[in-house]
Amino acid sequence: MQRRSFLKNASIGAVAGTAAVAAPVFAQDAPTLNWRLASSFGRSLDTLFGCSEMFAKYVSESTDGKFNIRIFPGGEIVPPLQVLDAVQKNTVEMGHSCGYYYFGKDPILCFDTAVPFGLNARQMNAWMYEADGMKLTREMYKPYNILNFPLGNTGVQMGGWFRKEIKTVDDLKGLKMRTAGFAGTVLARLGVVPQQIAGGDIYPALEKGTLDAVEWVGPADDEKLGFFKIAKHYYYPGWWEGGPQISLYVNQGEFEKLPKSYQVIIDSASRAAHTAMTARYDNANAAALRRLLAQGTQLHAFPRAVMDASWDAAIQVYDEFSAKDPKFKAVYDNYMGYRDTQVPWFRVAEASYDQFIGAAISRKK
Ligand code: CA
Repeated sequence: MQRRSFLKNASIGAVAGTAAVAAPVFAQDAPTLNWRLASSFGRSLDTLFGCSEMFAKYVSESTDGKFNIRIFPGGEIVPPLQVLDAVQKNTVEMGHSCGYYYFGKDPILCFDTAVPFGLNARQMNAWMYEADGMKLTREMYKPYNILNFPLGNTGVQMGGWFRKEIKTVDDLKGLKMRTAGFAGTVLARLGVVPQQIAGGDIYPALEKGTLDAVEWVGPADDEKLGFFKIAKHYYYPGWWEGGPQISLYVNQGEFEKLPKSYQVIIDSASRAAHTAMTARYDNANAAALRRLLAQGTQLHAFPRAVMDASWDAAIQVYDEFSAKDPKFKAVYDNYMGYRDTQVPWFRVAEASYDQFIGAAISRKK
């Protein structure tokens, strides 16, 4: 019986194979769909914005052009920081955004992007795809009628551009700094006055002196926005964003109406474009950092005392949020517990390898 059905299947396969060569068509009953995706990012941020374009291209090509997704830059049909709301209401079927932009709705959403002293990009991928991350983040978005998929990760970000050097924790007091969400709450404990400003408005504010400091992403994007022309001191690391993940939002009801094949294509196309974003950033950041340094940018590590004070402030905020909300505490414990099991491994082979190579290259110069 088993052998007979194997032969039957094999012959069907052979016939289908021949037919596919003669007339390549995607499943003929597959629907033609035109969806809209609202991005939180502008076209000029080509790595962030380009990731959603790459995703849409993979989806279209995998369906012989039947499933089309049109991408709208932030502000064109939906304001950049209201993408979640637009997907929730089904104004658009899809969005490309960051959970931590919606910190004001619920801080728990930050775990889908990045939180202070959290996971790096590889650990975030491991948490999402191999551990509890996907299940927990999907539970977070359920009340918003959204199904999330990872769609990009910038890698660890920079600590930002400062007009004046930061030598002590006191130097942070009264500093007007552009930053977003959770980071702002922690920095405020150290005396920083956080300002949430959209990408395009940051440069004029820095130029006018309305801002003393700004953090955005890393060398490639920061160079495009021109901050180095005004603030010379470029700090690392961006301890509030160890591996920020960008997300694809799909309206839950619309997703459920899709044929299974389209659902699988969304999943696999998002995985492919997700990986591509980190590669693009790694490639572009190294070159941009060299150019910035050649133009007089001064690179500094945050002093250890500033890092320690920031760590303590972050723990204080985590404890307060955890005490207020058991749901926050459950995700926090899972996420940070995962970090604490990952880091001892990363320190062994990965970190020692990177350190050795880094030192060897410096000696060579
Ligand atoms: Ca940032």
